[in-house]
Amino acid sequence: MIKIEHLVKNYGSNCAVDDISFEVESGEIVGFLGPNGAGKSTTMNILTGYLSSTSGKASIAGIDILRDPIGAKKLIGYLPEQPPLYLDMTVEEYLKFIFDLKGCRLDRKAHLAEVCETVKIKDVYHKVIRTLSKGYRQRVGIAQALIGKPKVIIFDEPTVGLDPKQIIEIRNLIRGLGKDHTVILSTHILQEVQAVCDRIIIINKGKIVANEKTENISHMVDNNRRFNVKIAGPQKEILAMLKGMTGIAYAEALAERDGDAYTYMIESDFGVDIRKKLFYQLAERNWPLIGMEALGMNLEDIFITVVDKSEEYRTAGNLQNRIKRRTRGQDKSALEREVGASLYEEAQRQRSESSLSAASDEDDE
Ligand code: ADP
Repeated sequence: MIKIEHLVKNYGSNCAVDDISFEVESGEIVGFLGPNGAGKSTTMNILTGYLSSTSGKASIAGIDILRDPIGAKKLIGYLPEQPPLYLDMTVEEYLKFIFDLKGCRLDRKAHLAEVCETVKIKDVYHKVIRTLSKGYRQRVGIAQALIGKPKVIIFDEPTVGLDPKQIIEIRNLIRGLGKDHTVILSTHILQEVQAVCDRIIIINKGKIVANEKTENISHMVDNNRRFNVKIAGPQKEILAMLKGMTGIAYAEALAERDGDAYTYMIESDFGVDIRKKLFYQLAERNWPLIGMEALGMNLEDIFITVVDKSEEYRTAGNLQNRIKRRTRGQDKSALEREVGASLYEEAQRQRSESSLSAASDEDDE
């Protein structure tokens, strides 16, 4: 449905998009993820015909955006980072205006009712946009993108500036749109792609560093193994044993106690499955293994690892040291430098927000 081939965009001597190629199949929701300045908006703007490329090709359903911009734009609904709203209009006036502007041939009343139903804005239909909350304004922005039933919907940072409750609602809304549309979503928020997208394209410094199905992306770094293990027995001795055990790269005692059992976080060497060995060694010493929880990698770890790989930090020792440092929660400044401070901060913010907002499900006006 969407095809980008060897796309390049230079701003003077600054190469914002550096020879990227990817395809998006019909019905997919694809996340375009990268730190600020990675080249996401530039790519989106080329894809939507707002910006010309220096070289390369972009097409929607076989229609070349440069050769037939009007034909291509008819297939696209676009929500830019700043929704193009006229604040003095009511929602009704605005959506009717957009409908006419797009030259839609559908039945206006029925189509607008359908769109309002999809984005849940019927209750504010007669209100002036200026009086709406940011969450509702974003819904109106999504409504304008849906007018005319475009095959492809493109969202640029759709949840920036929303509160945690609104973020969840907008994400659910976007997920729902995937049933009938092909969706590209640009974001610098790791949890966003995890929550919404079927596939993730990671861009860094204008280059694609990963293009994987969301559930598969962890396979790129599956040689990292982390567990929380709960073991009954003397904490100091157990920790010393874990630290000294061949196959364990890192071990620390967590501040968690359950009777005479303590929890430890361990990380095995690359390619080592430590579980059976750990079980037998603990049994030999009469220290019962009470529990073991695989921690996996979150997208933040994956992003860092993928970017590390793309930047040729591939030697096992180097990568291992980084993961060890990260696991201990140290050396944040080095991390921030490498992946962009905003990305790191955003991931932390999102993590605390998601625990805050887990229970919420409706946007109150
Ligand atoms: P993202 O959306 O991932 O944050 P952008 O596509 O906005 O990234 O920017 C990519 C790079 O291009 C950045 O280095 C940015 O400073 C630069 N850039 C973006 N727009 C312009 C512009 N109009 N003129 C000059 N440089 C620009």
